[in-house]
Amino acid sequence: MQYAFDETQLAMLQMLGSLTTVVLRPSLTELKGYLERGLTEQQYNLALEKIEIKWFDEQRFMRSPIPKSGKVADGPIAKLVSGIECGTSPNALGLFSEVVDAEVVCPDCTHVLNYNLHMNIKGECFGPTGATGIRGGGAISTLIAGKNLRTTVLANTIAVDYFNSQREIKETNCQLMWQDPMQGDIYYAHHIGLERGLFALAYHIDFHVIEDSCTCNVCGCSSPRSVKEFRRVKYTGSYGSTKNGRDGNAQWWPHPYTPVIRKEDGDYAVCARDQHWQSWQEFSSYVIGKETDKSLTKPAYIVGQFEKIGGGGVNLLVGGNIADQGSITGRVYDLYAMPEHWDTGLERVTLVIDAGLDVKECLSRALNKMFAVGYDSKFVSGIKNDAMHRYTSNAQQIVQQLLLDVNRKEASELRKGAVEKLKGEAKKVYGGIMRKYQYDLPLFKALVKGENTLMKVGEVTL
Ligand SMILES: [Zn+2]
Repeated sequence: MQYAFDETQLAMLQMLGSLTTVVLRPSLTELKGYLERGLTEQQYNLALEKIEIKWFDEQRFMRSPIPKSGKVADGPIAKLVSGIECGTSPNALGLFSEVVDAEVVCPDCTHVLNYNLHMNIKGECFGPTGATGIRGGGAISTLIAGKNLRTTVLANTIAVDYFNSQREIKETNCQLMWQDPMQGDIYYAHHIGLERGLFALAYHIDFHVIEDSCTCNVCGCSSPRSVKEFRRVKYTGSYGSTKNGRDGNAQWWPHPYTPVIRKEDGDYAVCARDQHWQSWQEFSSYVIGKETDKSLTKPAYIVGQFEKIGGGGVNLLVGGNIADQGSITGRVYDLYAMPEHWDTGLERVTLVIDAGLDVKECLSRALNKMFAVGYDSKFVSGIKNDAMHRYTSNAQQIVQQLLLDVNRKEASELRKGAVEKLKGEAKKVYGGIMRKYQYDLPLFKALVKGENTLMKVGEVTL
């Protein structure tokens, strides 16, 4: 599976795992068996017989018919690729691709683009009155990346019994939304069953197919038919992912691919923060969770499920958009090597991440010495922030590389190597600042003081 836009790739992975869930509806035990032995043709055919296949055909899948009374809006297909600047919000910026990069697609690819719109694009990115989907905008996804496509898809399939046992829900509607569209002001999470939530809609949508051949901008295949535009009408209510929904006590629907942060006033999807954010910093909380005074971060359901199955032998993918109001300011698509055995090995991941965070903390303290000089604090903060961003950004690759050794090295050796590598990176960043300000004597003196702080990192903890 290879797509030019990594967000299409991410959406496709999410969609395949969700589709397999609908087809197989496995229990945890069955899913474990499928992962070990695969699925026979008989098992697959039997599963297919149990679902109403018509709801998944080209015309119906994820498309509830446009109501006659609704005000229909048209848009170019590029709007379904986040990160392309063509929203009408004043603050809508796209960084990654040009509109011409996604002008025409084949009818097959409309499904993944439609899915991406509903699951990964924030309403505001789409236009000032865009609808926000069930996961909200900019939610992080963590997905299991197996050795091959089969294990990847199966490992991201949701065990229905286990999922339901993890939720405090009594009566749910399990019909797909294009079977039974949402109506009303507030879409309460506890009424939304698994299948309904996995493919939750925020728009009635229709794609205009023309009898004109094209080379699809998304999959690269040639097609006798093309799609350049789509039509849409917003659903009328709100999910718990929006302010309206939250105020109406809709609650956030626990999407199985998204880590959750529990705060005093409820559960939220974990989102990337700003364009300088790098996923490694939060990675521990995505695999084992993290508790602070004010919040509790829990790994995505799919990660917990895989651990429960006795997981191992896979990598973990962290992906999503970094959204700021109407803009997409960054994109995350990071693959992490994971321990062979999750039950005994997950702390090793934490060792590496913590080493990176310790070094970051010391770098910050070292740079803080500059504030004592008495210079304009904005000027000093500028220097500091710049250095911190450089470190967190360079550390991303280093951490991913260090984790490649997670199965080969002893815990203490792993930690030692991590501190060394990451400290080396911090020293490089720090040295650059010292060189730059070597003729500014007060600042340079402060930096020399700070250098001692930085050198000490790792010495105490080792
Ligand atoms: Zn295509």
